[in-house]
Amino acid sequence: HPVTAGRLERIVTEIAEEMAAQTNRGKVADYIPPLARVDPAHFALAVVLPDGTTISAGDCTMRFSIQSVSKVFTLALALGKMGEQMWSRVGREPSGDPFNSIVQLEYERGLPRNPFINAGAIAVTDSILSSYMPKEALGEILQFVRFVAGDEDIAIDPAVARSEQETGFRNIALANFMREFGTIDGPVEQTLGVYFHHCAIAMTARQLAMAGRFLAYDGCLYPGGPRVIAARMARQINTLMLTCGHYDRSGEFAFSVGLPGKSGVGGGILAVAPGQAAIGCWSPGLNRSGNSELGSRALERLAERTGWSVFAPR
Ligand code: GLN
Repeated sequence: HPVTAGRLERIVTEIAEEMAAQTNRGKVADYIPPLARVDPAHFALAVVLPDGTTISAGDCTMRFSIQSVSKVFTLALALGKMGEQMWSRVGREPSGDPFNSIVQLEYERGLPRNPFINAGAIAVTDSILSSYMPKEALGEILQFVRFVAGDEDIAIDPAVARSEQETGFRNIALANFMREFGTIDGPVEQTLGVYFHHCAIAMTARQLAMAGRFLAYDGCLYPGGPRVIAARMARQINTLMLTCGHYDRSGEFAFSVGLPGKSGVGGGILAVAPGQAAIGCWSPGLNRSGNSELGSRALERLAERTGWSVFAPR
């Protein structure tokens, strides 16, 4: 039975209350000051249903840094532009390693394992840059996010972008390593500049859920709405979110939640229940793999109580 809006309202409120009572909230990212300052007490959960009804609880109007969740949008944009050619620069295997790991790049001759680890996302960003100048590329990414969210009020946090740029030595190393193998072909500073800026996009949980709708409806903005990307590509992105969206905890997330999901070190998670809902979740405390601690737990409960697992027969 599909979950009614009324029942969902109760589920979402309950989960927010349960999360408020949790004592193990993980640890806020501290590699840059603007993220280290965020209060770990925040929690937000927003669910958008096929008819556009949004059900939310917690701090759903507060903006947070989406960080690696932006990798979903850059991949969608790049796939739309480049099509299958994209896969000559980046693989589709879970890495089983931390998000910023460099080791596999050497074994795989500069080819990143998947588009959701840092190396892979930098390669995707670089491919967007092959059709645009850096400023244009960034504008195109932001415009794409605003378009899929149906919301012009989404912007880049300049303080986060600046801090990323000042401290992103590992990302600089990854980019240079890939440049040597020809996986990326533009000037590394330009590619990294665009990468650091799209990681610094700030959104609310509600905006994030809205922005993920096209993945819930086979590439259409909403059921019966305009097409954003081919259905095949939307399914490919969802598959990668399920298998690679939480780095070296992707298996654990798939096992316990059963939904495609993408996390970021700002504590955001975008999850997709195909045909049923798009979900934005935020709680800044992270587990050791850099995924939102409460966000993962909340999504596990949401999937369980709604029966939204992608493995549930329908
Ligand atoms: N901007 C962060 C980085 O490049 C994104 C990482 C993340 O969210 N996992 O390290």
